Amino acid sequence: MRDCLRLLQPLIDTACRPSGMRQATRHMTPTAFEALPLAAPLHRVLRELNYHTPSPVQAQAIPLLLAGRDLLGCAQTGTGKTAGFALPILHALHENPRQIRPKTCRTLVLTPTRELAGQVGKSFSTYGAHIRFKQTLIYGGVGQNPQVSAMRGGVDVLVATPGRLLDLIEQRAVDLSAVEFFVLDEVDRMLDMGFLRDVKRIVALLPTNRQSLFFSATLAPNIVELAQTILRNPARVSITPEVTTAERINQQVCFVDRENKKPLLELLLADQAKAEVGKLTIVFSRTKHGANKLAKSLCAAGFPADAIHGNKSQAQREKALEKFKKGLTPVLVATDVAARGVDVKDVGLVVNYDLPNEPEAYVHRIGRTARAGAEGRAVSFCAEDEREFLREIEKVIKMPVPRWDDHAWHDEALADRHLRLRSGGGMVQGGGNRGGGRQGGGGGNRSKQGGGGNGGAGRDYSNASRRNNRRGPATVR
Ligand code: AMP
Repeated sequence: MRDCLRLLQPLIDTACRPSGMRQATRHMTPTAFEALPLAAPLHRVLRELNYHTPSPVQAQAIPLLLAGRDLLGCAQTGTGKTAGFALPILHALHENPRQIRPKTCRTLVLTPTRELAGQVGKSFSTYGAHIRFKQTLIYGGVGQNPQVSAMRGGVDVLVATPGRLLDLIEQRAVDLSAVEFFVLDEVDRMLDMGFLRDVKRIVALLPTNRQSLFFSATLAPNIVELAQTILRNPARVSITPEVTTAERINQQVCFVDRENKKPLLELLLADQAKAEVGKLTIVFSRTKHGANKLAKSLCAAGFPADAIHGNKSQAQREKALEKFKKGLTPVLVATDVAARGVDVKDVGLVVNYDLPNEPEAYVHRIGRTARAGAEGRAVSFCAEDEREFLREIEKVIKMPVPRWDDHAWHDEALADRHLRLRSGGGMVQGGGNRGGGRQGGGGGNRSKQGGGGNGGAGRDYSNASRRNNRRGPATVR
């Protein structure tokens, strides 16, 4: 953490230096979209979507981007960051229309997964509904011919995953020499997935005269190092995942033997099926095989479930996601890679059936619930061999995860061993959830100030905004 801050300092200093731009923007943070100098067709779409208040990341980023600054953003999906970059880009495309050369694009957005690419593409279509612009998506797992023909005449916006994009560049079907806006989204995940070399190759093909935007949920040293090679004099905005985890998600941990995880999951799913809101559940499994097996056994136990992971084809993943969104299969068992970018409003429960061995993945996973102002619950199962993972997670989120032990499979001895391990690491004891009732949905650390969103367009970000301002500048990990 300290190393990370030390590495970040030059970037932070540069961001604050030249004209005091960053501080000025803070004071000017707009409280309504009308205050932002966006083109009329964008204001119109925002009214139609019933978006009144910019989310904190939008309030910070949009004025900086309209001013032409490069941006280093610490934010994850669910914070409204897509509109944070799509709106100023669409504004620029609208204000400054240009002839596009064949095979080129004016905007390139790189995302780690096809799901996220699809989502970003959809957001551009939504926000650009009243603007004339051409966009296309490029990602692997599907035939390349439609993508090659879509690029033939050039596009304003290209959203792509790195591998397929490089394939098409090599085949001379895509030319990056006309990129004016470059967005690298979810960079931490891109690096986790081994895309560093691909990203560097792509960056080397971009013109130097461009505006670059760099978003990552975490700012580990390797990420900052990469950012320094891509950004010029970047402004920095930071919306920390920690704020999200601490305030809106009711997190709990269950100490349980590995073989008791299944009946405990079934208990949680039965309770969730009775819930009034947010009936959908995402269950995280560490392996693809484990995800398949678990989905199958849940179906057999009467809980309609499907699995998504990296071995499934694009069509299979899309079908599974669609059925999940519609509530036809209200349980989705997923691995980390596949769940990236899943933005489904009614996810009321996330279960970490296996704890992730990277603490950052925990923050991403539980962020699948409590989307855009809603509240959610995240229950993690911790078996004997996962205690160390839990300890790392608690260090990163800077709080102990409250335990939920009011169920038949609670392993007190295991809980005690974790407590000893945690105390050894200097952590303080967290609030337990004894007596929370079998439902277990209401006890522990549930925050009352979340201002539960309405789960649809027109969510009010004003509470989130105030909360964020109150907390001051977000922490950097
Ligand atoms: P994102 O973080 O970009 O994935 O956005 C999360 C969700 O918030 C999406 O469903 C958006 O449609 C929604 N959203 C984004 N900005 C706003 C806003 N200012 N007001 C209300 N909803 C928003």
